[in-house]
Amino acid sequence: MHKFKFIVLPCDGIGPEIVDASVRVLKAAAARYKVDLQLDYKTVGFDSLNRFGTTLREDVLQMSKDYDGIILGTQSHADYPKPEEGGRNVSSSYRVGLDLYANIRPARTRSYVDTNMPEGRTMDLVIMRESTEGFYADRNMTRGCGEMMPSPDMALAVRKITRHCSERIARRSFELAMTRRKKLTAIHKLNCFLMTDGLFMDAVRNVAKDFPDVEFNDLLVDASTAHLVRTPEVFDVIVTTNFFGDILSDLTSELSGGLGMAGSINAGDDMCCAQAQHGSAPTIAGKDIANPVSMILSVAMMLSWLGDRRKSEVLSEMGAAMTRSVDKVLENPLTRTRDIGGSMGCRDFAACVEEVVARA
Ligand code: ATP
Repeated sequence: MHKFKFIVLPCDGIGPEIVDASVRVLKAAAARYKVDLQLDYKTVGFDSLNRFGTTLREDVLQMSKDYDGIILGTQSHADYPKPEEGGRNVSSSYRVGLDLYANIRPARTRSYVDTNMPEGRTMDLVIMRESTEGFYADRNMTRGCGEMMPSPDMALAVRKITRHCSERIARRSFELAMTRRKKLTAIHKLNCFLMTDGLFMDAVRNVAKDFPDVEFNDLLVDASTAHLVRTPEVFDVIVTTNFFGDILSDLTSELSGGLGMAGSINAGDDMCCAQAQHGSAPTIAGKDIANPVSMILSVAMMLSWLGDRRKSEVLSEMGAAMTRSVDKVLENPLTRTRDIGGSMGCRDFAACVEEVVARA
């Protein structure tokens, strides 16, 4: 019997509810495919802050390396105290600490679910967001912080772009494009960031030479928002830097159906973490109204990623079955959550998916 072990980190806001939903579906898939699952829960986020004085204990981060994969809920990072008071950014600690440099964020429309686009528009794209450097003050310095305040009325921020990180995200993006419609768009702001986006684009263009079968183009980030709204169907794989990818992926998931609808993984060379695309939505936390689709699909993506890496058919099949089952349940307007026009709760939605997975 195949055996896999995952570390489960529910975290803040709606994290515990949607993680619970995804774990229930994962367990149903494991039973269906006769896989022995070990799930070890650890406390991170506000719960951890209250109990251990930090939102992320170093030993939890380090022990995560010993698992086949990581299931991470949403974090209310904006409400954390300063890092020196225990408010450690859980997502970024995982991305940087385990070198999970590719934040892979697909967005696709389904003919039977309303989109936030004009009738008839479709979208099926993947944003490949570099996630270990860029314009993020907490992850672009070895020592110190990427933001500083020389005086009370002046603040500065540093954006770090390296050839190494740009090349590896570009390579993963071209590889992904080769398995899809063989189109790749690099998004940047080269007209303003001549050096940083200049270096990023130079690295992407160098990698492009190894993939002559991929149709390659590039867009300024501001123009790209208009193109994504106007003609979303032309995009296949998008590669971009951290900050732009964060913003653009909220736009694409909202356009394609809603923030709660698209999965996401943080992937390195050997490790993968499933994490919903959206934030912790504290205003709806604890009410059983959150949409768990993004989190369930994130776990499914993690299984598929692991299946590819390890040539494990059973993991790939489990991932595909979970994705198919979510789509099947979404087909019925009566089994949808409120954010997409239904009335079902998070738990009941997960129960419907569990039922379909068991027969997948
Ligand atoms: P954070 O501070 O963690 O970023 P936020 O609420 O500001 O949280 P998001 O969590 O990304 O930002 O979500 C913005 C809004 O989108 C939420 O207030 C909620 O209404 C909606 N939303 C996001 N995710 C979901 C979900 N899974 N199910 C239902 N609604 C969601």
